[in-house]
Amino acid sequence: MSEPGVPLAGVIGYPIAHSRSPLLHGHWLRSYGIRGHYVPMLVAQADLREVLAALPKAGFVGVNVTIPHKEAVLQIADVVTDRAALIGAANTLIFRKDGRIHADNTDGHGFLASIEQQVPGWHPPAGPAAVFGAGGAARAVIVALMEVGVPEIRIANRTRARAEALRSEFGSRLVVHDWVQAGAMLEGAATVVNATSLGMVGKPEFKVPLDALSPRALVCDIVYNPLRTGLLEAAAAAGCTLVDGLGMLLHQGAPGFERWFGVRPAVDEATRAAVLAAP
Ligand code: NAP
Repeated sequence: MSEPGVPLAGVIGYPIAHSRSPLLHGHWLRSYGIRGHYVPMLVAQADLREVLAALPKAGFVGVNVTIPHKEAVLQIADVVTDRAALIGAANTLIFRKDGRIHADNTDGHGFLASIEQQVPGWHPPAGPAAVFGAGGAARAVIVALMEVGVPEIRIANRTRARAEALRSEFGSRLVVHDWVQAGAMLEGAATVVNATSLGMVGKPEFKVPLDALSPRALVCDIVYNPLRTGLLEAAAAAGCTLVDGLGMLLHQGAPGFERWFGVRPAVDEATRAAVLAAP
């Protein structure tokens, strides 16, 4: 239990030690002189419901949710935003004073805000987007791209059925390409997004051929470890505009922080440095 008036928030997942959210929110709490705490919590699937019921009683005002609980929390929350329902996952919970749990997904906001900050002239309706991946992050990216008026969203995923399922759900603005010919999606694509885990430390490299990539394309890799992925290196060599994955991570945290602690935090160089400080 916290001291009265000292709000607590945190992140629940399994595993949780890798999460950078405590660095991010800790930085914001210090920057704004807020007497609150943000803690990582290792929560097993079997304990999820019980933990979420108990946290508000211990002074928690909300939590971020990470793997593997992002889908399961939708069944436990009392109120689910349309966006979280559409994406099929939540990453931000608010414990309301009336005892109800409110679930939202801010990954799409983080994705868009990061691009808008790093590339102010980005004009989503200008041309098709090519998205690699059909997992949880890809769903958030696709919903966001649809919201801002991207006319056609091409997707390719190793497991094609997952991409086809997205098309059935989100409609004909999505065009499914085969993973083995995923490079063909790049022809005329204005926005290119890697939403797979390829290129991440410990995972295989992203090896889709990039011959069709236009130098006018904006290329975003949502993988942020390493910050400069193989895809971004190749896109830089092709003369593209680059957006790394760290901005998305930082911006997705801002709405939760504002709801829990009452201040809309800035996402600036100091924020990036704080999160990059740890190995
Ligand atoms: P996920 O639901 O597990 O999806 C993983 C995706 O990667 C799937 O499309 C999967 O394809 C694909 N994939 C994995 N291994 C592959 C391989 N060897 N070859 C081809 N495709 C492969 O994970 P997620 O939550 O969407 O996260 C995806 C990545 O985004 C992770 O690296 C995560 O760290 C990053 N992310 C970043 C942010 C941010 O704020 N920057 C936010 C969320 C996620 P299959 O369907 O065929 O398995």
